Amino acid sequence: MTTHNIEKTEGVVLKITPSKESDAILSIYTHDYGRISVYGKGIKKINSKNARGVTPSTLSLFELNVRKGLSSLIRASGIKYYTHIQDHIETDILAQCLLEYYYRYVPENKPDLETYTFLVDALKAIDTGYSYKLIYALILVFIMKDNGIELEVDGCVHCGHTSVTSFSLVDGGFVCHKHQTPQDVELSIDALKAIRHIYKTPIAHVDALSIDESVLKEILFIFEHYIDEYCGIYLNALRFVKEWI
Ligand SMILES: [Zn+2]
Repeated sequence: MTTHNIEKTEGVVLKITPSKESDAILSIYTHDYGRISVYGKGIKKINSKNARGVTPSTLSLFELNVRKGLSSLIRASGIKYYTHIQDHIETDILAQCLLEYYYRYVPENKPDLETYTFLVDALKAIDTGYSYKLIYALILVFIMKDNGIELEVDGCVHCGHTSVTSFSLVDGGFVCHKHQTPQDVELSIDALKAIRHIYKTPIAHVDALSIDESVLKEILFIFEHYIDEYCGIYLNALRFVKEWI
C-alpha cells in the first residue's frame, strides 16, 4: 500500500513528550478522532514551522497521516492562541488541570463532540478572564458528569419538593426542610441557587452566571467531594488549585 491517509482536523495539544533528537510525541484531542497520539518529527527544532501550532492550550489545525496507534504530524497551524491564559498563575494552572484531565482520563480514539466542545469552550473562558473559581467549578462539574455522576438539583432528592434548604452529599442532591437530617449541609438560598446554575450552565454561557466569590467558596467543596471520593481522579495540577481556592 502506498496510499497515505492524510486528514485535516482541528484540535488542542494536551501534552508533548520529547522523543529522540528533536522529535516529540504529541497527545492531541481532536475534533474528528478524539484523543490521539501523534509523532511530530523535528518539532523541537528552533526553526520548526510547526512550533507554534503544537503549543499546548492552542486551538490548531492539524494535517495528519492517520494510522492506528501512532499517527504522524505533517503540519500544525494555530487557529486561536489563548495568550492570556499565561498572564496569571491561577489561569495557567486551571488550563493545566483541564489538559491533564484530558490526557490522563479521556479515552483514546473515541471522538465525542461534547468532550471536544467543552475543551475549546473552557480554554476560551479561561483566556477571557472570568472568575477562576467559577471556571474551576464548571470544570469540576464537567469531570463529575464525564464520570457518570449526576446530581439532583431540581428539587428535594427524596420527595421532589422545589423548596429546599440543604444538600445531601450521600444522596447527591438538594433536600427539603422536611427531609433534612443533621448529616446534610445546610446552605443559604444563594448557595443552593449557585449550585443549580453552575450545574446546568454550559461553560460557553459562563457570562450568564453572576455568582458572588463568597458563595463560590461556600459550595466548591461539594463538587470537589465527588471528584475526590467517587471519580478516582487524581490530577497533579489540582493540588495547586486547592492551595489558592
Ligand atoms: Zn423532601
